[in-house]
Amino acid sequence: MRVAQLDFADPEFPVSIVEKPSPDLPGPQWARIRVTGGGICGSDLHLFKPTTGQTPMLMSYVAMPMELGHEISGIVLEAGPGFPIDSGERVAVDPVMGCVARGIEPLCPQCAIGAAASCHNLASREVTPGFMIGYTNGLGSGWADEVVVHESMLHLVPDAVADEAVVLHEPLSVVIHGVLRRPPRDGDRVLIVGAGIIGLCAVAAIKSLFPACHVTVVAKHDHQQDAARSLGADEVVAPASDGSHISELAKIAETHVVGTGMLAGGFQYVIEAVGAPGAISECLRSVGGGGTIIFLGAAGVTEVDLTPLWFKEVTVAGSFCHASDPHGAEGLVHSVDLALDVLASGALPHDLVITHEFPLGQLREAVETALGRGETGALKVVLRPQDMV
Ligand SMILES: [Zn+2]
Ligand SMILES: [Zn+2]
Repeated sequence: MRVAQLDFADPEFPVSIVEKPSPDLPGPQWARIRVTGGGICGSDLHLFKPTTGQTPMLMSYVAMPMELGHEISGIVLEAGPGFPIDSGERVAVDPVMGCVARGIEPLCPQCAIGAAASCHNLASREVTPGFMIGYTNGLGSGWADEVVVHESMLHLVPDAVADEAVVLHEPLSVVIHGVLRRPPRDGDRVLIVGAGIIGLCAVAAIKSLFPACHVTVVAKHDHQQDAARSLGADEVVAPASDGSHISELAKIAETHVVGTGMLAGGFQYVIEAVGAPGAISECLRSVGGGGTIIFLGAAGVTEVDLTPLWFKEVTVAGSFCHASDPHGAEGLVHSVDLALDVLASGALPHDLVITHEFPLGQLREAVETALGRGETGALKVVLRPQDMV
């Protein structure tokens, strides 16, 4: 099979597409998946052009060479005895490899409560080095023809979700888990900073799961602004390079700007969907007193003025990947299953947000299209390894 791996073999482009034997199933509870969609995530793009600062603390959590692609949709090809999902079924993959997938017992405290993304054993190198599919080696990945996955990582896809849309479960689930870590209240004014795919998924998630919230989006590019409006954002604000759009945000939040550009009151609930210092600062200066910021952008080493954090008594909730979280009367719900429900409802139309699709062999063009989103109009770029495009 073909797999895209980060190996720096080509001085022009750090990723090579290499032929490897199909990986063996590591155990009876594993299945081989034929990949039908491999999304290109903002975090993948940092490997090609870093914009959010380095994250040296995570060096022990990745394999090298690294098989890339953690946004994965597929079809079960083959499974071990006793595997609960039939061959031919469509599946969404939760790429995180916690204690259950690695066969570690007893489960760590986080896995014991269904929060494998914050598993204590992500750097254990059991089964594979790397904390999740897309940063591992030897299992295949989303930018490959095949991937092998433990049953605990698979979610069945409802019939109402179109084949092309399934791969969107991953960024949407990232947002849903983040939001459910500390949900907004009815009537909250929500500010989403950033309108790449994570920001747009946040619009769809808030509008679907918390429809009584008012949603404002800060969106840089025209095509992002249009998409945010199509998904139901109540207000869309274009950021000015001198920060002067803060007065527009003040008007929406029915407050005023103090001094050098902090809102006196502000938005009760803010979602950081970029990971760059400018966006983090935007969240901090716009959040209201006693408000909440959900950190979804993958910020690394960076410099921001944290004054509003303590001065406004802000609560910051970090979030990573996927988990089971309490959701209303339903009790504990896994974020991937909720994401699939949101996709089934049509709240995040795939033909709106999947703007480009490429065969695996055109990986370089796909990455350049995603990186050049200001010119290409890219929102989500998806690789289709089975040459569906
Ligand atoms: Zn991602
Ligand atoms: Zn664990």
